[in-house]
Amino acid sequence: MIPFVDLKAQYASIKDEIAVAIQGVLDSCQFTLGSEVAALEKEFAAYGGAREAMGVNSGTSALHLALLAAGIGPGDEVITVPFTFVATAAAIHYTGATPVYVDIDPQTFNMDPAKIEAAITSKTRAIIPVHLYGQPADMDPIVEIARRRGLIVIEDAAQAHGAEYKGRRVGSLGDMACFSFYPGKNLGAYGEAGMVTTDNPDYAKRIRMLRDWGAEQKYHHVMKGYNFRMEGIQGAVLRVKMRHIEAWTEARRAAARYYDKAFAGSGIQTPRQSEGCRHVYHVYAVRSPERARWQQELTAKGVQTGIHYPIPVHLQQAYSDARWKRGDFPHSEKASDEVLSLPMYPELNTVQQDEVVAAVLETAKQLVPTR
Ligand SMILES: *Cc1c(COP(=O)(O)O)cnc(C)c1O
Repeated sequence: MIPFVDLKAQYASIKDEIAVAIQGVLDSCQFTLGSEVAALEKEFAAYGGAREAMGVNSGTSALHLALLAAGIGPGDEVITVPFTFVATAAAIHYTGATPVYVDIDPQTFNMDPAKIEAAITSKTRAIIPVHLYGQPADMDPIVEIARRRGLIVIEDAAQAHGAEYKGRRVGSLGDMACFSFYPGKNLGAYGEAGMVTTDNPDYAKRIRMLRDWGAEQKYHHVMKGYNFRMEGIQGAVLRVKMRHIEAWTEARRAAARYYDKAFAGSGIQTPRQSEGCRHVYHVYAVRSPERARWQQELTAKGVQTGIHYPIPVHLQQAYSDARWKRGDFPHSEKASDEVLSLPMYPELNTVQQDEVVAAVLETAKQLVPTR
């Protein structure tokens, strides 16, 4: 069986470094925030080209606190895409604001900037583009619209550590950027963790307070805050992994090129890296109108696949709203019906990839009408 992701392979490659890092936290007893988290914040800010980074307990908390730091709350509207992991929309709901969706560009799976203006109302306060699958959203037109209309831009970079847009890393392309270190993400903790990056010292200060009970000084609560602190062990683990992230990202990109080449001319729709972007392939998704049968066949051939995501947020039972119905975001809905994620992780080798490719091509011949 070729797994969809293989966390054990990566752990095996850094086991000794991890043991030393975790032992250091145990010896220091700095179990929450502390010096390892502070050092990670410095390193991660520099990595993303941002002045400040604030470690939190998940990518969802990162989004939640970024919105709160920007002053977003009940009565406000925040524009995002329905073709994303549900956390993007959930974080907007947590603040009391309402998500307003715009459709994706079917080529990139990312927010279509041409659709934003029509979604802006007098209540709109922010835009959250998602760098889905590790490909940066088209940030220049998004930021241009936001500046002109007085809106804040928060990057959902949960899947895009190290991705680049026109020579700049994600993390400093808008007003704030939010990262997830969920174990399966490109940079994964050994538990839950997340990060907000920004160049704005006011946002940074507010997020530092909000993650730790809104206190400026212990037991002096100036804002209604949360317990969203990052754990010391996660900080130490992530610092070890920061030493390898560039090599791992290049390994993902090499694996993507290998797939691209193997599928060229087969009629299979492969992901396309946008002009001037560095795609970091958190997910390598192909498309087929016969996705269900395709996935079944691949499973039978020993290739594990994933679906990111089978239902767009506006059609999710828990997040449905009288404002939206099926047909409102046709590109997102079609992508949800057709995408299939192939095995992708830095340790995936060409022997494994050859097996995936053979299984995919064989299945495609039976199922996909060639163009
Ligand atoms: C994973 C993810 C999140 C949430 O991050 P958690 O660390 O799981 O809370 C948010 N947005 C996107 C696009 C994600 O993929």
